Amino acid sequence: MDKDSLRAIPKIDELLKEPQMIMAIEQHGKTVVVDCARSVTDRKRQQIILGNHKEPINRNQLIQEIEALIKNKMQRHLRPVINGTGIILHTNLGRAVLSESAAQAAYDVARNYSTLEYNIATGERGSRYSHVDSLLKELCGCESAMVVNNNAAAVLLVLNTLAKHQQVIVSRGELVEIGGAFRVPEVMEQSGAILVEVGSTNKTKKSDYENALSYENTGALLKVHTSNYKIIGFTEEVTLQELAEIGKNHDIPVVYDLGSGGFFKAEEYHLKDEPNVPESIQTGADIICFSGDKLLGGPQAGIIVGKKKYIDAMKKNPLTRAIRVDKMTLAALEATLMLYLDRDKAEKEIPILANLLVTKESLFKKAEQFAALLKNNAMIACEIIEDFGQVGGGSMPNQMIPSVCVSIKAKGFSENALDRKLNNAETPIIGRIHKDLYLLDMRTIESKDFETIAMALANLAE
Ligand SMILES: *Cc1c(COP(=O)(O)O)cnc(C)c1O
Repeated sequence: MDKDSLRAIPKIDELLKEPQMIMAIEQHGKTVVVDCARSVTDRKRQQIILGNHKEPINRNQLIQEIEALIKNKMQRHLRPVINGTGIILHTNLGRAVLSESAAQAAYDVARNYSTLEYNIATGERGSRYSHVDSLLKELCGCESAMVVNNNAAAVLLVLNTLAKHQQVIVSRGELVEIGGAFRVPEVMEQSGAILVEVGSTNKTKKSDYENALSYENTGALLKVHTSNYKIIGFTEEVTLQELAEIGKNHDIPVVYDLGSGGFFKAEEYHLKDEPNVPESIQTGADIICFSGDKLLGGPQAGIIVGKKKYIDAMKKNPLTRAIRVDKMTLAALEATLMLYLDRDKAEKEIPILANLLVTKESLFKKAEQFAALLKNNAMIACEIIEDFGQVGGGSMPNQMIPSVCVSIKAKGFSENALDRKLNNAETPIIGRIHKDLYLLDMRTIESKDFETIAMALANLAE
């Protein structure tokens, strides 16, 4: 054991007088800095005792180690990343990016008291659903609306309210798993409804539903939009319109779990087979539920729209309290819905819609602008190529959309090594590897992030 080295380790109190430590205390508080200083000095002491620390103690190096430890500990775990995957609604990267006004609205109610459940006009208690009620009625053409924490919760609430201990009839072709362990049969079981499967995997007919109906004990007819898989070939499906007719004839509510409902025609956004909310209401669904953060491009939420008598019953269901929507979500949702009142504004300001509509020419322009930033980096070779991005994996249509990418080769790094390195950059950069190429897709990267990526590529060697 080296007594001189042990003695050379400064006392914590002394270290705290260093300017870097004073600054760190201001930023993170004394407890954090003292804890980190103690960790580093204790580790040094251990190394000396075990004979693993041969060099003399260097005070500056010690301080740098403490700073590094503080930085590591105080870096937020949940933080922004740069999405270069080309997947617009990436489940693991947080799905929809909010519009500026939606983010601002969430911030405003977070930092202030708000009208959450206060009616300004009467000075009395108000309802948290009132903030989005008339917007949703106008945009969807429905009688009533409410919002819960997410769409999985919405489905649970709808079934529990309309069909507890009663039968819910659903086609075998629609008993899907959406991802993230949302399986229609399992949610149904949790809701207390009794699942009645009809038809077969590839074919379900009107008569299948009619034969399964029991007047005393059928709570609802359920249709699920199976956006993440497709049955092709010898198939038959009962349309929403046909189902709505059966429901009307037998006075049984028809529920449509739309999942990724939007307000505009999907074809105009280069999407196929995506029904929208207003059309589905018009077709005759009594209740529709959909996510706030899929095609809508708002915050995570489960939106329920449809007939007032059913939605009133849902608002009274005690389960509603357990899946209640939060004020920041409501604020962001209201701001998002307001953008939808003007289509031009929605397409400009809601990132999902803007990303779906961006032209190939502007993607090429973006790619050139980005590639120009890398020109002076001798380690990097890049090329602009055309490839395909996606709307969203898992819970969303796996539809490929043509996109423009910058492929990057870094001297001395395999694609996998480059990928890992950029993943661990200060702002993590998530790209994709395709056919031995490391690609950054211009559709999901914002120009404001180009400098950050160029910087990370300049620091690769570190
Ligand atoms: C995504 C999806 C859900 C689940 O919605 P969350 O908002 O993720 O809870 C349920 N049903 C369908 C059809 C979906 O596509």
